[in-house]
Amino acid sequence: MKKKILQSEVNAFLTNEKIMSRLQEEKDHLKKRKHKIEWTERTWNPSAGCTKISSGCQNCYAETMAKRLQGSGVVGYENGFEFNTVPSRLNDPLKRKKPTVYFVNSMSDIFHADMPEEYLDKIFEVITNTPHHTYQILTKRADRMLQYLSQRHIPKNVWLGVTVENKQQGLPRIDKLRNLPASVKFLSVEPLIEDLGDINLRNIDWVIVGGESGNRARPMDKQWVLNIKQQCFAEDIPFFFKQWGTWGEDGIKRNKKLNGKKLEGKICQQYPKIIEQQFHRDNSGEY
Ligand code: SF4
Repeated sequence: MKKKILQSEVNAFLTNEKIMSRLQEEKDHLKKRKHKIEWTERTWNPSAGCTKISSGCQNCYAETMAKRLQGSGVVGYENGFEFNTVPSRLNDPLKRKKPTVYFVNSMSDIFHADMPEEYLDKIFEVITNTPHHTYQILTKRADRMLQYLSQRHIPKNVWLGVTVENKQQGLPRIDKLRNLPASVKFLSVEPLIEDLGDINLRNIDWVIVGGESGNRARPMDKQWVLNIKQQCFAEDIPFFFKQWGTWGEDGIKRNKKLNGKKLEGKICQQYPKIIEQQFHRDNSGEY
């Protein structure tokens, strides 16, 4: 009996230790987050699936992920990567009180040709009805974005972005974006697969650059990244270098974690000026 009591005491002690150490981990995590806002906080996928449309789509992570989710029976992926709306997720942001930065459709493209206009209206209705959240909408379908939004009011809590992976398909998308009256207009230069040369950055508020990940990733040359950084700095546009991906700064292929996110030895992750104003944070980009 005595032995049993002792054993239960030991177990209780060990459980407490585990709880304490878990709490400490949580505290440390929260402390870190206070000093560092990631480029987005949550994803919201009111639609799922997509169709490859340009060079940036070649190794689409959403396609690989969709196949896995189909295997696990997740709603919205019954037909794998085929585009479909997911009405069961439409109202998710309405249920969340905490102000959150949402990346809209990480697994799809909101302006996909098969997206019904009435459903797009419902998505924007949710956005309008949740002014406490911020929505980052990124697309490769810049023509449809322009056609849809130029006839409507763009809610203040919408940030609009286009992908710019190369000159031929990426750069023309910027022209479709630049005159839309969104609070933040950003470029997602990911995956960067060639030198972009001179970029017209007029009316652009934020530029994110990153390399490709995965076994079949295409290399990203350091000079291509520096070329964009120089142009952003010259025009006082916040520049966010996300990661090298599978190919390192030295041009060697290795684990993306080892390649990291330092550019010339420094983390360079600036945020749009609106974040600086709203959160009174330092935007030097150095952490
Ligand atoms: S647009 Fe985005 S989600 Fe759609 S296929 Fe291309 S990379 Fe994938």
